[in-house]
Amino acid sequence: MDFAATEKRPWLHAMGVRWFPVVGWAERGGYLADGHGNSVPRFHVTWGTGPGVVAPFERRVQAAVASGRVELRFRHRVDELTWAGGGLDGVRGAVLEPSFAARGTRSSHTEMGQFERHAPVVLVTSGGIGANQDLVRANWPARLGPAPRRMISGVPEHVDGRMLAIVARAGGRIVNPDRMWHYTEGIENWQPIWARHGVRILPGPSSLWLDARGRRFPAPHFPGFDTLGTLKAISDSGYDYSWFVLTQKIIEKEFALSGSEQNPDLTGRDIRLTMARIRPGAPGPVEAFKRHGVDFVVARTLPELVTGMNKLTAEPLIDLADLKRQIVARDREMDNRFTKDMQVMAIRNARRSPGERLARTAAPHKILDLGAGPLIAVRLNIVTRKTLGGLQTDLSGRVLANSGEPIPGLFAAGEVAGFGGGMHGYRSLEGTFLGGCLFSGRQAGRAAARETAS
Ligand SMILES: Cc1cc2nc3c(=O)[nH]c(=O)nc-3n(C[C@H](O)[C@H](O)[C@H](O)COP(=O)(O)OP(=O)(O)OC[C@H]3O[C@@H](n4cnc5c(N)ncnc54)[C@H](O)[C@@H]3O)c2cc1C
Repeated sequence: MDFAATEKRPWLHAMGVRWFPVVGWAERGGYLADGHGNSVPRFHVTWGTGPGVVAPFERRVQAAVASGRVELRFRHRVDELTWAGGGLDGVRGAVLEPSFAARGTRSSHTEMGQFERHAPVVLVTSGGIGANQDLVRANWPARLGPAPRRMISGVPEHVDGRMLAIVARAGGRIVNPDRMWHYTEGIENWQPIWARHGVRILPGPSSLWLDARGRRFPAPHFPGFDTLGTLKAISDSGYDYSWFVLTQKIIEKEFALSGSEQNPDLTGRDIRLTMARIRPGAPGPVEAFKRHGVDFVVARTLPELVTGMNKLTAEPLIDLADLKRQIVARDREMDNRFTKDMQVMAIRNARRSPGERLARTAAPHKILDLGAGPLIAVRLNIVTRKTLGGLQTDLSGRVLANSGEPIPGLFAAGEVAGFGGGMHGYRSLEGTFLGGCLFSGRQAGRAAARETAS
């Protein structure tokens, strides 16, 4: 907490990392004032997105490569840790054939040979398990009900969790494997980069959120509130998908998509393109999903919308009369200053925050208001993402054995170590994960340097 609240920002700023200067309220959390969640909106998005975070670190590594202090070994896949004289002494694995696959796409796994590298310390930073759906299902927490039959993947294929088993075989202890953070607002990428590629919608608060049968979820399962709570509510519905129903006016202001490719304005640090976010019209990538995405239904009238929704799913579960009743009841609350609809209260509350009002929350309106249309329904899939369990380490990033003692010479950081021991807790909340990766990497790196200093 001390690092996050003090040193982190000036440290990153000095290295050239910048942030999109509008605070957002990605995860309000749930329940009462002392419940989990962000009590205030906060900065989330880096200027330059993921590549913008990596760039200053890459520059440092490249400088170390140039001065002969670092060697990069691409296409080397670690398959085991090696031991000598009772101690860990390196890694062994396969050298894969050269690949010219585009970034993020599946590269060849054909082995050309073996390699071994020996070193006084090994630092494992192999990421989480989100692309290995078998592992996700095997670790699915009983408290969230049965694992979804169908999920889409919110992480690239290299996030396969293989190294966890490799380190466990070497005596490392895995803790809290059932702590995962998967999103409930996944849509299939119509331009997939990796297998079963799912993109997450970061929604503003206004879309109606319905279960597979078209029934509104109760409070506080509104867009942008409580990811894990809503995941449970979806699971309790007996289906592995849910629906947003919204208007064109809502999609224009409230749909943001996660991922560097989906935010060319921020990734390209293009101020002019970024300013277009506050102008009328949906951002280009959102509009493209609306047109091409398999999960989207767009219609002028509610009957047409329901027909489209029922065509998208194996069973026609949405009842027009019931959905209309719920929307009319919700719309009636737009005329009621003292509304009893908690989602309408939340929308009005969000508009009190200048950032939300400017860029994230549509002016309250009736969903059946023709002027706000067309109507849109989006089928939301479960999209895998984050792994909060993993290798247990001490505060220096040393991997612990089942005995609780550190394994000499073995360190872990980042998502493979649950973002540094799940340092933000199970309900880490939106956007707090990279901070844990940076901090745990720094802790482990410094401790490894101390251990190897001659
Ligand atoms: C679309 C998207 C959006 C995200 N948005 C946010 C956000 O807004 N805020 C936030 O905090 N977090 C976000 N995250 C999460 C965050 O990006 C990851 O948690 C973080 O990148 C994990 O970093 P890492 O270095 O631990 O692992 P990774 O970045 O997964 O890197 C692991 C590396 O290890 C390599 N590797 C794995 N196994 C082996 C092996 N056996 N041998 C050799 N190499 C191996 C892999 O190829 C990979 O290069 C997002 C993730 C995604 C996919």
